[in-house]
Amino acid sequence: KITDCLERLKGSGLPQRDDLIALLSCADEKELKPLFLAADARRKAAVGDVVHLRGIVEFSNYCERNCLYCGLRRVNRQLKRYRMSNREILEAAFAVKAAKIPTLVLQSGEDSFYTTEKLCSLIQSIKAETGLVVTLSLGERPRNDYHAFREAGADRYLLKHETASPSLYGRLHPDSRQENRLQCLKWLKELRYETGAGIMVGLPGQDAAVLADDILLISSLKADMAGIGPFLPHPQTPLAACPSGMVLPVLTVLALVRLACPTINLPATTALSVLHPEGRKKALAVGANVVMPDFTPPAYRRLYDLYPGRTAGSEDTELIMETLKKEIICCGRTLQVTT
Ligand code: SAM
Ligand code: SF4
Repeated sequence: KITDCLERLKGSGLPQRDDLIALLSCADEKELKPLFLAADARRKAAVGDVVHLRGIVEFSNYCERNCLYCGLRRVNRQLKRYRMSNREILEAAFAVKAAKIPTLVLQSGEDSFYTTEKLCSLIQSIKAETGLVVTLSLGERPRNDYHAFREAGADRYLLKHETASPSLYGRLHPDSRQENRLQCLKWLKELRYETGAGIMVGLPGQDAAVLADDILLISSLKADMAGIGPFLPHPQTPLAACPSGMVLPVLTVLALVRLACPTINLPATTALSVLHPEGRKKALAVGANVVMPDFTPPAYRRLYDLYPGRTAGSEDTELIMETLKKEIICCGRTLQVTT
């Protein structure tokens, strides 16, 4: 049965929801092996062996939202909050450039301290001084803001849809509406951003049918990128007692997204590396083709506390880059760097 589903999924055209559900319901790694091999072959044929690097700078951990899963949620009073100055952000952008990484990702909580004007002038100076490709991940904003950021030079925007299920979305987001999130994604596509959607795998209340709908939604949105990682419970959130997402379902979703959207950019997420020491390698073997090393200055990085374990390990960017390069080459892949 699994082999029949996989044969149909390997064909062209929109995947069948039932086939996706069958594969997403399988918990036997051996049975899933042909899926992983098919996704790896599809990745190689559609986007090649290159691994794209994006340097991420998390410039503010203030957030006005209360997403149930996230350590940055507004009511987490135990978290020390920070905002990086423009100078600090520019310095971090220069560090990305010095590491020969062509793309900078600017991420933050939903923080209205950063007005449209402040962000536009920041984007303009980064573009003028570094020439980096600029990706934003600032959450939901009005269409006019997205338009202004685009005019100021922003190229890409990451806004995970988090879950396709309206009821689960409602339970997880007390102060935002799924309708608005999806509207934002449509605006971003209209404004010709390279647009990223995505999900957490293993959220409480999520099942194989919800994950199948997530994959179909990523495909119907024509997302240029999809961030797919495990849910990791944070102790200072209402989901503290929920179990973590697991490695195998994350790999299954990654592989199915690669089959459904052959040319999409799929990061091997930090969350998967937190869950498993070989998480990055495993993701790269089942369809992933992007890695996003963290260029937030270490003193702030510790405070960008979405989930536990994020900031463990080395704080030395050069060392992180060396390890990353070795690992990518070891997987038989090539690294995308600027000259
Ligand atoms: N505030 C913006 C937003 O929500 O789109 C961007 C920053 S937000 C911290 C980036 C992503 O972190 C979210 O899209 C969410 O999927 C992820 N995240 C938050 N809490 C998490 C958790 N406990 N486990 C795994 N991922 C989490
Ligand atoms: Fe804020 Fe984003 Fe965390 Fe939600 S996921 S609380 S919007 S930082």
